[in-house]
Amino acid sequence: MKNRIGKVLLVMLALYALTCIIMLYLLEFRKASLILAIATVIVGSIFVCANDIKARYFFMKRKKAIIYADINNSKLIRLYYGQRLANSIFDLALDKIDNLVTNGCVKTKYRSNYIILTGYNSKSDIVNLINKINNEIQNIKCDELFNLSIKFGVQMCDEEGYDQNENKAELACNLAKSNISNTYQFYNASEFESQLKEKMILNELIYALKHKQFEVYYQPKFDYKINDIVGSEALVRLKKDSELVPAKNFIDVAEKHGFTVFLDKYVLKEVCKKIQELKKKKIEFGIISVNVSRNTLCEEDMMDYYSKMLDDYGVKKSDIELEITERDSNNTDDLSERVHKLSRKFNVSIDDFGIGKSSLSMLSENNIRTIKIDRKFIVDNSENGKKILNNIIKLAKELEFEVVAEGVETKEQYDYLKSKGCNIIQGYYYSKPLCYEDYEKLLLEKRS
Ligand code: C2E
Ligand code: MG
Ligand code: MG
Repeated sequence: MKNRIGKVLLVMLALYALTCIIMLYLLEFRKASLILAIATVIVGSIFVCANDIKARYFFMKRKKAIIYADINNSKLIRLYYGQRLANSIFDLALDKIDNLVTNGCVKTKYRSNYIILTGYNSKSDIVNLINKINNEIQNIKCDELFNLSIKFGVQMCDEEGYDQNENKAELACNLAKSNISNTYQFYNASEFESQLKEKMILNELIYALKHKQFEVYYQPKFDYKINDIVGSEALVRLKKDSELVPAKNFIDVAEKHGFTVFLDKYVLKEVCKKIQELKKKKIEFGIISVNVSRNTLCEEDMMDYYSKMLDDYGVKKSDIELEITERDSNNTDDLSERVHKLSRKFNVSIDDFGIGKSSLSMLSENNIRTIKIDRKFIVDNSENGKKILNNIIKLAKELEFEVVAEGVETKEQYDYLKSKGCNIIQGYYYSKPLCYEDYEKLLLEKRS
């Protein structure tokens, strides 16, 4: 028997057996059999109810929560220690949990998952219980190599039935498992809705790539000094029904799930094809930049793939620039190193300059060709904002980088940048991103 209730029931069972013997001795047989049959049904039901988590859930009238606890790396434990030893480790964990759950009960699922039903007065009761269980589990040492660890998902039960509440606790546990620093996670409807939305976006992106529903748009970069287009940026668009969805609506989800690796390679190939076309038509296009996500940058075969594409389509190094954003970089050392390697073979531009964590250190280490000042600094009219913008331009010029201001929308912004010596602009003021046909037309118009 795993818990205290089990022990109580054992005592009840013994008392029941004793009563049977006494009744059989004292009463006539038929009467005794009837009473015993009824008593058997009652005691049996109590026994089943007391051990069944759903019945306990149903009868528990106070506030209750379901905690879904899952041993980490259970598959690995099974493989490494073998099924029998693994099972005894999981059973030991169950005993420990059982002893700590004083007002509820525990059920196992697949041996290494535990579903805990517990009553509570406040959220802190649940957190305390989790912390206690967590400590006990961590103290189970399989051997000197391996300590057990566990993750928890919590659903503070609502009006819905047991199954729905258990599902929510399991979903919350999955979320806790996807985040290294979280030991437990409470179920939160909005978080799961956004997870669901993300999954839908990701499915759409995968479908779109398979069915060639991505299109590359080109936004010209204009140099006022020579009054000409000096290049463009390739920006991906998703064709959905009759709409074109801009990258900003899906790029974060794509990046989060590693999809940008496929997307960047696809965009590069499309751009190389178009460069080949422009060259055949002898249309001057300057330099086209493509965005490179963090995931792509970390791909082992990235350099080989990019070099191969350039070779396959007869694209020269000077035709292409790789735009690296350092917007959400965590491991900046690693980023600098990778950018450094990349910049030996390709033209590199730092996108969204000024809003990342490593801008300045990257400038000193790498052969960067261009920096693109983030739109945030272009629209900032505060005194400090202007000072920052002026000094970024000054610094870039002193270090002999090409400097591009992005997101320029108004004549005022354009004039201001011009007065500060930032001669290349990209933004709606000069042109929105264009489909390839319109972009080619614009180039032809400019060159005629
Ligand atoms: P980004 O590289 O900084 O690109 C500039 C974004 O600003 C583009 O949005 C562009 O359409 C928008 N923009 C251009 N001019 C203006 C303007 O005057 N005003 C305003 N408000 N916005 C302007 P988009 O195309 O939605 O792209 C958003 C981000 O998505 C890009 O920011 C880039 O980081 C990423 N992205 C786009 N295409 C790709 C791609 O092929 N691969 C990867 N990894 N990322 C991409
Ligand atoms: Mg960019
Ligand atoms: Mg940018």
